[in-house]
Amino acid sequence: MKNEISTIVIVGGGPAGLRAAEIAAQAGTKVEIIEGSRTPGRKFLLAGKSGLNLTNARTADFATHYTNAADEDFWQRAMATFSPDALRDWSADLGYETFESAGGKVFPECMRGAPLLRAWLQRLNDFGVNFRLGKRVVDWHPETNTLELEGGESVAYSAVIFALGGASWPRTGSDGSWVSWFQKAGIEVNPLQPANCGWEVEWPAAFLEQSEGKPLKNVAISTQSSKNLEDGPKNSVLGELMITRYGLEGGPIYRLGPALRAAANDGPVVELMLDLKPSLALQAVEKKLAPVRKNYIREARRRLRLCDVGAALLKTLPNLGPWDSAETLAKAIKGCPIPLTRPRPIDEAISTAGGVCWSELVSEELKLKKMPNAYVAGEMLDWEAPTGGYLLQGCFATGQIAAQAALRVCGK
Ligand SMILES: Cc1cc2nc3c(=O)[nH]c(=O)nc-3n(C[C@H](O)[C@H](O)[C@H](O)COP(=O)(O)OP(=O)(O)OC[C@H]3O[C@@H](n4cnc5c(N)ncnc54)[C@H](O)[C@@H]3O)c2cc1C
Repeated sequence: MKNEISTIVIVGGGPAGLRAAEIAAQAGTKVEIIEGSRTPGRKFLLAGKSGLNLTNARTADFATHYTNAADEDFWQRAMATFSPDALRDWSADLGYETFESAGGKVFPECMRGAPLLRAWLQRLNDFGVNFRLGKRVVDWHPETNTLELEGGESVAYSAVIFALGGASWPRTGSDGSWVSWFQKAGIEVNPLQPANCGWEVEWPAAFLEQSEGKPLKNVAISTQSSKNLEDGPKNSVLGELMITRYGLEGGPIYRLGPALRAAANDGPVVELMLDLKPSLALQAVEKKLAPVRKNYIREARRRLRLCDVGAALLKTLPNLGPWDSAETLAKAIKGCPIPLTRPRPIDEAISTAGGVCWSELVSEELKLKKMPNAYVAGEMLDWEAPTGGYLLQGCFATGQIAAQAALRVCGK
């Protein structure tokens, strides 16, 4: 039975699908990629426009950056299968050495995704991978092992790897339309939601006038209640936020996404707790402000080097002030509540949370339990990770796992 399978069909030509194709073709199997766009890797190109952050060199706790998996060791095993170092070697092998930047972020020397993708596609061509570009899959008939393309054409497969991506930046081709045909086939899919994205705030006009487009540097944010300030920070994320017309953007709020989404399930408004002076404990801020009896904000700026945007927040947010005691101002500096209304739309998000439920998968192989010879890889699986190189690393690793498992079915 094993050797009857001769072609592995991969649906989706993003990094997960291309990596799966590379592994399968390298092993000598016939590989066909079906890609809805006229060019593969459009999101990879987009990711590489302002610097392709391939992976991260902080390998010690790498696996802990991923949420969700079939079991707690999954990401550790995935990283053992295709490690951050292996990804760097892969890039070097294609002609682009990598370098490490702030926070362990790893970039190829060419910085952009385009040269790397060109070299990668050339390699796949050399391996004999067959690309069917501009062909969207619109339905799946697992009972007959066929995929239905737009226009009615049917493609039979012996083994199929789905690598269709999430639903962010749909103009790159990843629009999440696969969810309906997966659900029709009886596969449970958790709703696709925006991840690594900004959140909306209804800023007062006076605040926007002064602060739009400006950064809030060296702050910490959390979902912690202001009542628990004395307990010290819990799950707080440090970094820089950007004030935008519609709300907040920046690494810390992206990283807090899972906690914010969980809090959003409890009510229409999520309270983000902003610490404007994370390097000082509440008591230290209180001590510095203790002598102040008037001009509270001006004094806070002078004594604590509070930035312009922080001062504008304390002056203009309707739920704060007017200030008449150093103690209450100190508390607000250490825990300034910002009401978030919703995440930005999924169209703008860097990645997608939700996807094919882990309970549907044999996790060692990323094989769908209910279907013969069908595998899933990349962002369409139900996991998320912060920016910093973890997303691509996860897509490459899961693409490799799925391909290796499909190869075993082919007797390779
Ligand atoms: C602006 C931006 C910047 C980013 N920067 C980084 C970064 O620097 N580092 C990092 O690690 N990650 C980054 N990411 C995230 C990273 O690009 C994604 O996680 C990754 O591309 C997902 O890979 P994938 O193969 O799972 O899916 P995708 O790359 O989304 O590929 C899926 C493919 O499937 C095709 N497809 C979808 N539906 C169909 C269908 N029905 N029929 C046929 N084909 C279909 C799509 O056209 C697409 O080509 C960034 C993302 C964005 C949006």
